[in-house]
Amino acid sequence: MASKYGEIVEESLNALLNDTSFLPNFSGDERKNAFTSLESILSTPNQIQKSFLRVPLENGKILRIPAFRVQHNNAVGPYKGGIRFHETVEEDEVINLATLMTLKNALHDVPFGGGKGGVVINPREFSEKELHTISKTYVQNFSDILGPDKDIPAPDVGTGEREMDWMMGEFKNIHPGRPYRGSFTGKSQMNGGSLGRREATGKGVYFTLRYMIHNFINENEGWFKENENRFAKTALNHTKRELTIGIQGFGNVGSVAALESYQCNYLNTKVVAVSDRNVTLYNGDGLDIEALVDFTSKHNGDLPTTKEALSQNGIKADIQDRADVLYLDTDVLILAALEDQIHEDNVDKVKARMIVEGANGPITLGADRKLSDEGVLVIPDILANAGGVIVSYFEWLQGRETQFYSEEEVSTMLFKKMKETMDEIFPQFFSDPFPLRQNCYIHTVMKLSDIMYRHGKLY
Ligand code: NAD
Repeated sequence: MASKYGEIVEESLNALLNDTSFLPNFSGDERKNAFTSLESILSTPNQIQKSFLRVPLENGKILRIPAFRVQHNNAVGPYKGGIRFHETVEEDEVINLATLMTLKNALHDVPFGGGKGGVVINPREFSEKELHTISKTYVQNFSDILGPDKDIPAPDVGTGEREMDWMMGEFKNIHPGRPYRGSFTGKSQMNGGSLGRREATGKGVYFTLRYMIHNFINENEGWFKENENRFAKTALNHTKRELTIGIQGFGNVGSVAALESYQCNYLNTKVVAVSDRNVTLYNGDGLDIEALVDFTSKHNGDLPTTKEALSQNGIKADIQDRADVLYLDTDVLILAALEDQIHEDNVDKVKARMIVEGANGPITLGADRKLSDEGVLVIPDILANAGGVIVSYFEWLQGRETQFYSEEEVSTMLFKKMKETMDEIFPQFFSDPFPLRQNCYIHTVMKLSDIMYRHGKLY
């Protein structure tokens, strides 16, 4: 069975089959063969490695923990993608996420391929010493396939700069005398990490929303007036009133996107709801995001869950169920938690007019089709959450140059790169019938196909 992104690749290739300006040198049976090659290359990974990490625990027991590294495609450059520590990690999920990385990097002209890793643990159940051993053992077990010119991991859910520092340290031990700074990104600044890496994904997520609304409405007013759909009506109103935003997930991505909204001068937005693994907090007048960020920084990343905690910290909000954020009547919903949060069984309850995918794959394909039919604008993961990998690329470059950029330089370079992609994609979106997600995929599949054709791989 094709993976989720494999299916999307197939749809994009079908849309391109009769476009003779795409792969113009192929016709007839040769063209069919080229498309079959493309589909099989892009919908299957080059390599899946699974290993059991042998980890002695502090209580004397020994665990064998399943771990994965999937290398999807390296036509554009070394494999690149995060390592996730989460109890629900499984092989198919890692394959999907690795495929998305190939497509995302190509879309944004980042010279990397796609990879992803995962370890099946709930990191909250392990001590720091045990997490250190898990991180080191991961590198030992996959060391042959990792490296600055082979495959460069980064943080993902459940991992951060601490784990990347440990992993890079172990890589250096295993490969003495070899270049090591570019072996992992998302490291601490002391260890060669880039300024602005932690904030990059959340900033990029908000930037895509801001750029779509602030820069494209006036130029495309005709389109918005013709399209009497949920998104168009909301977007046209943005200068007359504040746009309300709900955010699922208040971790690295969600909390930074919330802060960007709180501090943004370009768009009139207010965050009325945020959620995490425990609760949704709602305030129709707008939440005090700075106070919430301050609270989470002191409470292991968690939002306040009781009235007492809210009042002690001067935060005004109603406490609701954690899933409620998905169904609130907001203009914008930013999904910044996990996969498959909006699916066939709950999509009918979603009222937001625009959705920005900060997380990878937070909407299932079926739910996505339904949202698109109803005229909800979805700014897809491949476009919206690329900030992290873009700044990871800057970190890798800085490691090579042993020259470091200021935070302002990193932000400027990040926004420039994302703007270049959006300037290619958005005008096309306003002039053809495809949803934004499909537009992005058609675009990236065309780029990858051209590269593979030039590599002589389409036969
Ligand atoms: P994180 O671990 O920092 O934060 C995750 C947040 O989601 C936390 O607030 C957590 O409480 C919440 N959460 C967990 N389970 C939940 C549930 N069942 N319902 C509601 N909320 C829940 O992770 P992050 O780095 O912010 O990543 C979030 C998403 O963004 C992931 O899908 C990740 O793959 C994706 N992403 C992250 C980056 C990055 O640079 N961090 C880059 C691209 C994509």
